[in-house]
Amino acid sequence: KEDRSGIGSCEVFEPAMRARLKERCEMEVDLKAALDAEEFELYYQPFVDMAEKRVSGFEALLRWRHPEKGMISPADFIPLAEESGLIDRLGIWCLNTACAEAATWPETMTISVNLSPMQFKSDTLLADIDNALKTSGLAANRLQIEVTESLFLDQSDRILDILKEMRSRGLTVSMDDFGTGYSSLGYLSRFSFNKIKIDQSFVRDLGRQENIAIVRSVIGLSKSLKMQVIAEGIETEQQMRGLLAEGCREMQGYFFSKPQPKEELPRMIAEITKRWTGDLGASADAA
Ligand code: C2E
Ligand code: MG
Ligand code: MG
Ligand code: MG
Repeated sequence: KEDRSGIGSCEVFEPAMRARLKERCEMEVDLKAALDAEEFELYYQPFVDMAEKRVSGFEALLRWRHPEKGMISPADFIPLAEESGLIDRLGIWCLNTACAEAATWPETMTISVNLSPMQFKSDTLLADIDNALKTSGLAANRLQIEVTESLFLDQSDRILDILKEMRSRGLTVSMDDFGTGYSSLGYLSRFSFNKIKIDQSFVRDLGRQENIAIVRSVIGLSKSLKMQVIAEGIETEQQMRGLLAEGCREMQGYFFSKPQPKEELPRMIAEITKRWTGDLGASADAA
């Protein structure tokens, strides 16, 4: 008999791999149809300003309500959208939908939209943003753009130019997931972002001395570079108080609210405002 060791392991795994690949292909086909079928939805999660005890804005977070598979996380389908080139259309849809929604809110509230690095390859990104603002009537200074450090893996000069253009329009440019990616400090000094988002991984285990040290230095960095700072992923009152004690006033996380569909926003705002202007708010002042 011929020796098939080595090849054998391939044969065992092939069906499983083929199934995975098939699933992926099907999802990519579904993704293309999903925009037309209006299966995408934006959820909104509040930013809370703990100094003024108010909702200062919302982040738009994309959801895909798949007819058979149910709710799919952006972590699972954004990479597919990037590979298949659908991210541009999807990203434009997010910008337009988020700006139109934010235009109905009080003027003191901002809207934060996540942009994929792939969208910066599009020649029309700035025009798409201008168009979303113009169509919705939203003032440019109420729109925040969130980018991650992965944006700087290539094409850095072009990207810095686009970010500068965004800032010159009055947009707020935020560095999302700060501290988890690649070589951010160089870019922070070459191009001062308006805002740094402290990643939830540092907030989650704020009891650890190392994490307190990181959070403290990021807040210090943001102050010396004259940037705003916000912490994400706050789940407990203890984390909220710890961050407040370190001088971080703007916060986001399940402790305040999970991301919710737009219909829930009036109730969410009322609840948060009541909570933080009441007893809890007073004791936070004392802390
Ligand atoms: P992100 O921008 O860093 O968003 C924060 C993620 O953490 C969101 O997950 C949010 O639901 C979740 N989160 C918020 N508060 C807490 C908390 O207290 N605890 C925990 N454990 N998680 C919390 P989500 O909505 O699944 O989004 C995941 C990522 O997908 C986002 O990370 C962002 O990178 C990307 N994303 C979401 N929407 C869009 C979009 O419209 N366009 C692009 N390009 N990316 C998007
Ligand atoms: Mg974000
Ligand atoms: Mg983040
Ligand atoms: Mg993230």
